[in-house]
Amino acid sequence: MSKKWVYLFEEVAEAEKYAGDWEGVRALLGGKGSGLADMTRAGVPVPPGFTVTTEACNEFRKTGKFPDGQWEQQLAALKEVEKKTGKKFGAPNNPLLVSCRSGAKFSMPGMMNTILNIGLNDEVVEGLSKLTNNPRFAWDSYRRLIEMFGTTVFGLDDEVFEHPLADYKAKRGYKLDTEMTAEDWKALVGIFKEAYKKHVGSDFPQDVYQQLELATKAVFESWMGKRAVDYRRATNIPDDLGTAVNIVTMVFGNMGDDSGTGVAFTRNPSTGEKKMMGDYLLNAQGEDVVAGIRNADPIENMQKTMPEVYAQFMDITEKLEKHYKEMQDVEFTIERGRLWMLQTRNGKRTAKAAVKIAADMANEGLITKEEAVLRVTPENVDSLLHPQFDDKAKKEAEKAGAFFAKGVNASPGAAVGQAYFDADTAEKMAKEGKQEVVMVRPFTKPDDVHGMIAAKGVLTSEGGATSHAAVVARQFGIPCVVGASAIKIDLEKRQMVVDGKVVKEGEWISVDGTTGEVFVGQIPTTSPSLEEQTELMTLLTWADEICARDGIRKGPKGYPTRGLQVWTNADYPKDARRARSYGAVGIGLCRTEHMFFEPERLPIVQKMILASTSEERTEQLNKLLPYQRADFDGLFEAMDGYPVIIRLIDPPLHEFMPDEEALLEEVITMRVKGETKGLKEKEDLLKAIRNLHESNPMMGLRGVRLSIAMPEIVEMQVRAIFEAAADCTKRGIVVKPEVMIPLTGTVKELEWIQPRLERIASAVMEEKGVQFEYKFGTMIEIPRAAVTAGEIAKLAQFFSFGTNDLTQMTYGYSRDDAERNFLVTYVEQGILAKNPFQTLDREGVGKLMDWAISEGRKTRPDLEVGICGEHGGDPESIEWCHMIGNNYVSCSPFRVPIARLAAAHAALKHSGKSIAEDK
Ligand code: PEP
Ligand code: MG
Repeated sequence: MSKKWVYLFEEVAEAEKYAGDWEGVRALLGGKGSGLADMTRAGVPVPPGFTVTTEACNEFRKTGKFPDGQWEQQLAALKEVEKKTGKKFGAPNNPLLVSCRSGAKFSMPGMMNTILNIGLNDEVVEGLSKLTNNPRFAWDSYRRLIEMFGTTVFGLDDEVFEHPLADYKAKRGYKLDTEMTAEDWKALVGIFKEAYKKHVGSDFPQDVYQQLELATKAVFESWMGKRAVDYRRATNIPDDLGTAVNIVTMVFGNMGDDSGTGVAFTRNPSTGEKKMMGDYLLNAQGEDVVAGIRNADPIENMQKTMPEVYAQFMDITEKLEKHYKEMQDVEFTIERGRLWMLQTRNGKRTAKAAVKIAADMANEGLITKEEAVLRVTPENVDSLLHPQFDDKAKKEAEKAGAFFAKGVNASPGAAVGQAYFDADTAEKMAKEGKQEVVMVRPFTKPDDVHGMIAAKGVLTSEGGATSHAAVVARQFGIPCVVGASAIKIDLEKRQMVVDGKVVKEGEWISVDGTTGEVFVGQIPTTSPSLEEQTELMTLLTWADEICARDGIRKGPKGYPTRGLQVWTNADYPKDARRARSYGAVGIGLCRTEHMFFEPERLPIVQKMILASTSEERTEQLNKLLPYQRADFDGLFEAMDGYPVIIRLIDPPLHEFMPDEEALLEEVITMRVKGETKGLKEKEDLLKAIRNLHESNPMMGLRGVRLSIAMPEIVEMQVRAIFEAAADCTKRGIVVKPEVMIPLTGTVKELEWIQPRLERIASAVMEEKGVQFEYKFGTMIEIPRAAVTAGEIAKLAQFFSFGTNDLTQMTYGYSRDDAERNFLVTYVEQGILAKNPFQTLDREGVGKLMDWAISEGRKTRPDLEVGICGEHGGDPESIEWCHMIGNNYVSCSPFRVPIARLAAAHAALKHSGKSIAEDK
């Protein structure tokens, strides 16, 4: 006996047995075929039919012929369909018509062929017209068949049929197809047959079996059609899957007022509300609803027009939802009072609906909490937390030519504002002018932060995902696009230009930080808040519960057995409180230097830097101490009960000084004008700045190196931390300070600095008469530190991966310039799969991390490990952190909810696996 190439919809169990599992069935019968078969099994009325397998398609592609037995099996299956429908293929008095539809394992919408109304010929059309008492419908169906046959089976151009139809209508003075009468369609069938013969070279086949055979072959062949091949290349669908062919009984919704057709979602796809939403039309065909030629009625009206069918429909759709445990998007037809389901699939939905449906379904007991958590994507959460552009409005703006430029999508959300080209003006316009502002700069520096904070959005033409603008914008939840290199900013003329399109200062722009796009003009936005989104809050609570499960991870001694915790990068109490309300359970990075930029502190910081003796420096530092103590006090209070990691000063000192070029210009102007007052101070300052100059400051005197060169600064910081912690403890706040030393490259650095700082910690606790838990640890952001982590862990009680610098130094790519200069090309050319500053490079940087953790924990099993680089908020990178045994990830407050979900996804995906077997 030949192999089974054809499966009736009822034979799904056999297909399952042959294919092994449901994935196998989908591969064998295609998405559509397996769906129809599955619905049949679930007792849903599906028009009878059968599927020719993808295996038959692949044989056909090899030999150009149907494999042995296929055609005979098709005929036998057709007999079964005749039995079930009580109709007969090719019989004029009671004809069975079928469609022949493609259907691969993965949906390839519109890429392959479909032929409807197979089984009509000159005789059958007459019979059908009598039988249905609807000659217009019969002749219209016939002309559609001739047209589809010509274009899909023989590849004729659409014009072969479109032109004669247009000419015919013009002659009659018709505008719409709906004006065509039965006689008109009949006349057109004659014209179409002529056109067919002229172009194909033979008559349109009157043998209905020949129609079926040719249609089956045409669908097989369409698998290798250009459109289909291009689509597969673009979506990575392998060529060897092949397509199945579904032969399905035609049912007609246009057979009178007891017929109809419609589409519906089992729940509202835009809000998620548990209420059927759809449209139907009486006496109509499927495309009439989709094309909107006639106004469709809301589905609930069917309750009045066809109460029984409506009840059956509601019953079936409920069953389908229960069966698939998902919101369904269904298509149906009612033929003379009888309901047929033509398709069901998981419905597309907005982020809001995705969250509500997942939470509701779990609460209804349809799915588990784990499934609900997995159904929501991090992107869904992201889009629910940031203002977004209204999709339709954005498309319209694009059509209207408002697109301006594209850059790196550095911080998500939508921002609309008037463009200003420096921080002071941006801040002034926002504060005094009460304007909505977008700050536009080539790049930003720490002293631009006030402008950024005042702005609704930030746009830069340079820099990448970890540039200053990107980091700060994410920190504050400001939508931001960086590195939009097509934009030429002219700071003199106060304008920016792309290809001759000019935006002047004060003009409106719209910046989409989610996609990286920039538009001219104002695009409307929609904006949400977490607290109001109860379903999202519920889902995130479930995500936390999943992560907290003991045993969800396994690993060597000291490795965490629960999932990841989510901490936050926060410098100010306000950010810490926000992050806490978003679910953060610790601060993973407080960048203390940001505090040095505040207006009343910067002059003291500058004097401290310029001090020529240790005493002078200490004098200035003593002035800074109360400020820092107050900063830390606020943070400890905001994070009561949770750990707070405070990083000691990290950047090179020149960042705190005035801009060298601007100062030089001032000095020269003063000299030229002969002004002497204040000149000497300015000249001294210039000299000092020049002394601080380094060719490569990011690899220069910064981080722990600076602490060793000028220990007074970090000594002050540690004193401030412990004094604040002691004061808080006295007020009943539970503090867990963790002091983090940045940029360590060798354990010797820690050996030099850490004991000095620990002595201060002990001294302060002694002075204040309080004791509390604390830790000293380091950032791992230099490859050498990762490689020698076993040594470093002798002193460090915790590691925090600074993956911004670690990526920069592992690849040797400047984090500030690479994206602008070559990274985009690298990604486009496939040299890099992704931007490594956005998504952690597992093979390189990730391996170093993995090594560092295992070496570190060999020395110190209870080593606490986190990540505080920008990757801490990226779902793919979070998964890696889970896999290698991080205790937590730390990210900007606005990404905390996303990270909570991503952490739960990672925990579920790798549930119960040990660290070693996982990678
Ligand atoms: C890092 O390098 O990843 C980090 C968090 O530190 P910064 O971005 O401040 O250099
Ligand atoms: Mg760093």
